[in-house]
Amino acid sequence: MSARVLVVDDLLPNVKLLEAKLTSEYFDVLTANDGPSALEIIEAHPPDIVLLDIMMPGMDGFEVCSRIKANPQTMHIPVVMVTALSGAADRVRGIECGADDFLTKPVNDMALFARVRSLVRLKMMMDEWRLREQTSDQLGAMTDDRPIAAEDATNAHILILDDNAVASSQAAETLKSDNNTAEIVSSVEAAYSSAVDGKFDLIIVNLDLADQDALRLCSHLRSTEKTRQIPILLVVEEDEIERLAKGFDLGINDYLIKPIDPNELLARARTQIRRWRYQGRLRSNYERSIEMALTDSLTGLYNRRYLIAHLEGQFQRMQVSEKPLSLMMFDIDFFKDVNDTHGHGVGDEVLCGLAVSVTKNLRNFDTVSRYGGEEFIVVMPDTDLGIAMTVAERLREHIAANPFKVSGPAGAVSITLSIGVTQALGPDDTIEALIGRADEALYHGKRTGRNKAIVWTTSGMVDIAHPHTRDAATS
Ligand code: GH3
Ligand code: MG
Ligand code: MG
Repeated sequence: MSARVLVVDDLLPNVKLLEAKLTSEYFDVLTANDGPSALEIIEAHPPDIVLLDIMMPGMDGFEVCSRIKANPQTMHIPVVMVTALSGAADRVRGIECGADDFLTKPVNDMALFARVRSLVRLKMMMDEWRLREQTSDQLGAMTDDRPIAAEDATNAHILILDDNAVASSQAAETLKSDNNTAEIVSSVEAAYSSAVDGKFDLIIVNLDLADQDALRLCSHLRSTEKTRQIPILLVVEEDEIERLAKGFDLGINDYLIKPIDPNELLARARTQIRRWRYQGRLRSNYERSIEMALTDSLTGLYNRRYLIAHLEGQFQRMQVSEKPLSLMMFDIDFFKDVNDTHGHGVGDEVLCGLAVSVTKNLRNFDTVSRYGGEEFIVVMPDTDLGIAMTVAERLREHIAANPFKVSGPAGAVSITLSIGVTQALGPDDTIEALIGRADEALYHGKRTGRNKAIVWTTSGMVDIAHPHTRDAATS
């Protein structure tokens, strides 16, 4: 993984040292000797991460960090403060300015690369989500641009794994001041089984358990779908830097060094919880906008855009699997009369009722879409023409026999459908041709009396309910 790193320090030897270390690991390195020029570079060539000295003449690191985090264009860039000061007070002040992490001088290589890689990985994932959100924006879906700082960091549900009961209850007590609830477990197994359904906002793990490997939990959590993204905070001894690096490789998000400073615990927990919730917000915005772009707002069925994309996928699969694919198109008979007699609102209720009824009557891997106003298409994968004909005729009968309940004086409205059925015809067939044949069959049904399911065959149209009645079967 390559990334662009900006190193900011007023002392040239410090800059040169970090530059050499990072370059040897194939990072692209930019440098700045003071706050204002760092901000200029960030604006002109946004880096993937900033390593920032705290003590600088003029504008100090806290100020630079605050400005990066206050600017919507740059707030997503992770900032690591590099400092000779190791006091917890500075860490807390840094975190309050929005710093994502700290490194203490002289910088330990393992810690440096672990932190840089972990933060860059996280940034790239966030960039991906933000990109998707821009796409949603272009699709005209609603997006919200509240920054990560707007995310609530309290009332979280936290899991603590520690076999030291005193330490874990102290941590739980500290976390309570943000109204968090903490569940304490003392074994890797208990932690995993409690966390596996994804109910926590943060998992705090003590790295040195007496006879268990805490990293085992981290790897289980990262390889489980529901817990893959939940933030993990490792609690480590100062001399465990190598296993900590292993933890970062496994995807942990942050760490605390013992003895735990309560303020630092709170600050780090808040950062992780905020990030977790922000990511969740981006994801659900994205899912919602996709849903809005691909489904019909009245019936909730897929729309035409989705149908075509879905059929393209099905056609590609068919080349490989040679499994049959059938398609059915239907249109409500005399629907204009329903609107004219009962009003447009009742017409809408009938359309919604029909969507529910059709969906219920089909298998759940059949895709039902609203193709036009009162025209629908069902794609039936792994379905040969014989089965598709049975399904179509059964649907026609069901709809004709079951009026839809509606509001207003009518109480219920009966409708019938004209249905066209066809099957994909091998490698030379196209989506347009497939839909075209279903459409032809459907209109044959309309012309010959409506309330009919018609199948397209190479030798002509056939009324499924009366296959031997030639006058209905020829056009
Ligand atoms: P046919 O049997 O030939 O299909 O007759 P029809 O009256 O169903 O067909 P036509 O195409 O003449 O009219 C379709 C009607 O469907 C007209 C239109 O107002 C109505 N329609 C289309 N979309 C909606 C909708 O979203 N809600 C309601 N209530 N009506 C709709
Ligand atoms: Mg109609
Ligand atoms: Mg129509």
